[in-house]
Amino acid sequence: AKERGKNNYQFYTLEMTERSLERMTIERGLRHALAHDELRLHYQPQIDTGSGAAVGAEALVRWQHPEWGLVYPDRFINVAEETGLIVPIGAWVLRTACLQAKAWLEQNRPFSCVAVNVSPRQFIESNLFRTIKQTLLETGLPPGALELEITESAVMQDPEITLQVLHQLQQLGVRLSIDDFGTGYSSLTYLRRFPVQSVKIDRSFVIDLPDDEGSKTLVRAIIALAHELKLFVVAEGVETEAQLSFLKAQQCDSLQGYMFSKPVAPEQLENGFMAAGFK
Ligand code: C2E
Ligand code: CA
Ligand code: CA
Ligand code: CA
Repeated sequence: AKERGKNNYQFYTLEMTERSLERMTIERGLRHALAHDELRLHYQPQIDTGSGAAVGAEALVRWQHPEWGLVYPDRFINVAEETGLIVPIGAWVLRTACLQAKAWLEQNRPFSCVAVNVSPRQFIESNLFRTIKQTLLETGLPPGALELEITESAVMQDPEITLQVLHQLQQLGVRLSIDDFGTGYSSLTYLRRFPVQSVKIDRSFVIDLPDDEGSKTLVRAIIALAHELKLFVVAEGVETEAQLSFLKAQQCDSLQGYMFSKPVAPEQLENGFMAAGFK
């Protein structure tokens, strides 16, 4: 047993070394990516359940690496958060998404709002309010055409600062949404205090609809609670006809998922979804 313990320990440290090497590679790569314009935004349409029209789109960051190809955020967002690189990356995402949204509005595209993910460190380490205000001014995007998606954990890291920033942003007219709703611990107590307009039901609750009783109960409860608080409800990760009809029946306000479109490059959204609409 002792022998085995030792091997496990060696294996464990080797794995840790590999992991920290990988992190260093990612970190160095991200700095290079920022300086050499390797980041891209893909957009996933958000569909109004009633009309079937696209009402907005969520911006999701990708990294177009010269050798690795298109890298998805699950491979680098953690490292970006740990190293603080999420602050400049987040500023780039914000600016790029606002410029794109402004262009779509000017082209009279069927589009009203761009949603941008904001990570906890952006609240704590940067003057997020000033960055956003400045970005809106510079890009000319009306504040109401920008929605920020924040997670409950972001708010929980420093509720005082975060709530203060959220109130400032609300005054500015920016829309606020709680992402991955239902996965945090604070949902019920804090929901009332957050100056948000909408909640996004996490994909983990949508995935087993409509067969799983637990998921059904939860999703029904989230929608009822949110509507009681006059909040708008978005479901993410909608993939099937059966999920769609359950969410429709529960009067979920809008929908996002592969069923409608994967996140795609802006030109692809313009030629596809924005041209054809939702049938
Ligand atoms: P998220 O904000 O919860 O975004 C939803 C994720 O679910 C996206 O993955 C999207 O591509 C995926 N998704 C959407 N519909 C479906 C579906 O029907 N089925 C399945 N299986 N997946 C679906 P993605 O783009 O890989 O992003 C992963 C996470 O990375 C995001 O989760 C978000 O937390 C983070 N992220 C992405 N872009 C940014 C960014 O610009 N800033 C920050 N701070 N985080 C970002
Ligand atoms: Ca999101
Ligand atoms: Ca989400
Ligand atoms: Ca998620």
